[in-house]
Amino acid sequence: MNIEHGIDRKIDRSHMKVSESDIAIQISGMNKWYGTFHVLRDIDLTVMRGERIVIAGPSGSGKSTLIRCINRLEEHQAGQIVVDGTELTSDLKNIDKVRSEVGMVFQHFNLFPHLTIMENLTLAPIWVRKVPKREAEETAMYFLEKVKIPEQAHKYPGQLSGGQQQRVAIARSLCMKPRIMLFDEPTSALDPEMIKEVLDTMIQLAEEGMTMLCVTHEMGFAQAVANRVIFMDQGQIVEQNEPKEFFNNPKNERTKLFLSQIL
Ligand code: ADP
Ligand code: MG
Repeated sequence: MNIEHGIDRKIDRSHMKVSESDIAIQISGMNKWYGTFHVLRDIDLTVMRGERIVIAGPSGSGKSTLIRCINRLEEHQAGQIVVDGTELTSDLKNIDKVRSEVGMVFQHFNLFPHLTIMENLTLAPIWVRKVPKREAEETAMYFLEKVKIPEQAHKYPGQLSGGQQQRVAIARSLCMKPRIMLFDEPTSALDPEMIKEVLDTMIQLAEEGMTMLCVTHEMGFAQAVANRVIFMDQGQIVEQNEPKEFFNNPKNERTKLFLSQIL
């Protein structure tokens, strides 16, 4: 309230308003069922552009389902998911638009084994985006250099280590020029000595300002990179906070129990 000389002046707060274009993902009142099983309950989550969010929680708490709903690999039944201004409904046009802006990296790299690394990286740009082959290959080399394996371009996935394959999977997503990246336990299938090289790639992406949602058990990564940690249990977001507070001063009993088991 700005009351001057008894006059309640209308304050221009427009400069304080969060502009809609600053919001990358807006989820409100979202619920999802698998058959009769209520897997996600009343999810509210706003992700600002450039945010780096780590999603933690016990196995089966709905972390994968939540991020799979964001690019409609799973369908929600109630509430709203808006990605980059586009609401996810059964409208295929909207689904395509959202998928073109959201990259996803899975625990298992899902590379095509019969295609070279270069072919894996250029397949979607050429066939889905209609990018000329030469240009797609240049882009692919750019991202392979970024993930530090340009020399592997002409090999097949089976000839690469797990860590290298996961970096290829990240590069493949980046070739589609996403505005948001979703990671679902990207290092869980890797041998310990390969985890760091994948996390380093993700840290680099974060430093470049990518909006990221990462489901991970790597709490060191969460502490170093996340600006917010979200804790899920039994289909709900139980607690969220900036990492320091989340780890040092968890409020919820379930969060405390979880942290005591993994730290
Ligand atoms: P998290 O990634 O946190 O381990 P998920 O999102 O994979 O959890 O799974 C949440 C719950 O939903 C689990 O109880 C799981 O068994 C169940 N679930 C996952 N996918 C399906 C599915 N396709 N059909 C039925 N139940 C599923
Ligand atoms: Mg999961």
